[in-house]
Amino acid sequence: MAPSLTRLHLRVFLILLLCLGVAGYAGYRTVHDLQLASYEKNVTRTAGEAVTRVNELLMQQRRALEKIARQPDVVTLLRRGTSTARAASGNLIQSMLPGAVDVTLLARNSAGTLTPAGALDSACLDFVRRAAASETPIGPEFHALGTPAEHYDLAAPVRDGNQKTVGYLLASFGRAPLQAAMDRSLPQGGYLELQETATGTAQTVLTSGTVPAGNVATVTSALGNSRWTLIYESTDTPPAILSGNRIYYFALIALAALTIVIVLFRLYLQTVSAVRHDIRSLIRMFRDLREGSVRVGYPMKLREFAEIFDYLRDRGQKLVEEKEKLKGMGLMDHLSQLGNRRHFEMRLKELFDASKSNGPSSVLIIDMDHFKAVNDKHGHDAGDALIVGFADALRKVVRQSDVLVRLGGDEFCIIYAYAPLAKASALVDRLRKQLPREIPLTKGAMYQVRWTGGLSAMHDKDSKPDDVLLRADQALLQAKGAGRNITKVYDPATGRLAEKKIIVS
Ligand code: GH3
Ligand code: MG
Repeated sequence: MAPSLTRLHLRVFLILLLCLGVAGYAGYRTVHDLQLASYEKNVTRTAGEAVTRVNELLMQQRRALEKIARQPDVVTLLRRGTSTARAASGNLIQSMLPGAVDVTLLARNSAGTLTPAGALDSACLDFVRRAAASETPIGPEFHALGTPAEHYDLAAPVRDGNQKTVGYLLASFGRAPLQAAMDRSLPQGGYLELQETATGTAQTVLTSGTVPAGNVATVTSALGNSRWTLIYESTDTPPAILSGNRIYYFALIALAALTIVIVLFRLYLQTVSAVRHDIRSLIRMFRDLREGSVRVGYPMKLREFAEIFDYLRDRGQKLVEEKEKLKGMGLMDHLSQLGNRRHFEMRLKELFDASKSNGPSSVLIIDMDHFKAVNDKHGHDAGDALIVGFADALRKVVRQSDVLVRLGGDEFCIIYAYAPLAKASALVDRLRKQLPREIPLTKGAMYQVRWTGGLSAMHDKDSKPDDVLLRADQALLQAKGAGRNITKVYDPATGRLAEKKIIVS
């Protein structure tokens, strides 16, 4: 199917829309990723703040404990003090440590074993012994979880002037300050959970806030080298599709799409109107051409058409001039508007004279088959109309460089200028193919186009222009006698009529 302007515009529009869609999707992904990244950064920052608060509290407690552990009195007490004195000091130190619920002094004997002043929970003793065995300070640990004695422990070594460890201070803290630190760092609606991992299993030791429902972002942070892990769950939901910058982004895309629709639609209307306008000019020009008065200029809107249009106008102008000239010289056949026999004879003589230097021309005589029957059946007017119709059909397919005339009646002639017989034969073949199969007569009747041709070419031995015409006429007669609707060729080189060959039938 021939492409229409509407289809072409629609195709361009769809392609642009597709490109816009791809750009829109890519843009959406980019904006979304950026917003998601900033959202995740926020969540991570809140989790980081909670970790910092908890760590700060633990550091304060550890520093205070280590400061006390450096006191000379404590060193002396652990080297030489009695259990009773150590137990009493424990109570004193506890009162100096904010948040502490108990403090135990453990002396180290000559065998290196740490011994508490009084009774000590086995888990706490194990903790302080592990702290003593470790090269670096170990993190806090919860003991007696879920009981009234629940607490977490921190241990600090007590060293003498020679940096020899003489014992350990074990401080137990209640959960309240830790809970307060977590509560303080928790944003509205968030949830914090402190987990402690002992012997491979994690258990929750402290929580702040309530577990949020639905999709939440979770950040898990290990607290130093301790067994503690802080888990933060944010209730902030990721930004919605139409939020923040994305609203502007989508608005821009929609605006671009709308602009494209409007621009393309305007372009479509302009193009269609320009094409219609130029075609109207073309029709006007052809009408003027028929009436024999071509104007100097016709208004054109499209430059692409204007060039072809100028060419057509120039050719048309020439045709009109030629026609006027022929008319003026009495060389035109009034019915068919083709050259007449006089014109034919003039041109034949010119080409005959030129054949010596420019090569031979060929002559084809065409006689319509059973033309009389049209006159008889449909009347003389229909016969006239058929002559005009057939002349028009011939004019359309015969090259401008060739000579086309009506010799008279239903007989036409073409001189193929400077075309030798072989080339002319091929042109006659083409002519038969290109002519329409039927020509309308009057009142819906159709004439089935049938014609008989006789073709010959000029020859060196020809003495006058008519020689070639005579041979073509003989060929035509032969063709008519052979049943019509065929072309016969008289080859002047052989000089014998019998050697004419049939080209198309
Ligand atoms: P064939 O098939 O053998 O060619 O026969 P045909 O019926 O075509 O008749 P032919 O070519 O022998 O004669 C042409 C006829 O055309 C003769 C005449 O009555 C008719 N004729 C000649 N000039 C005109 C004309 O100007 N107008 C009309 N309508 N008829 C014409
Ligand atoms: Mg005829």
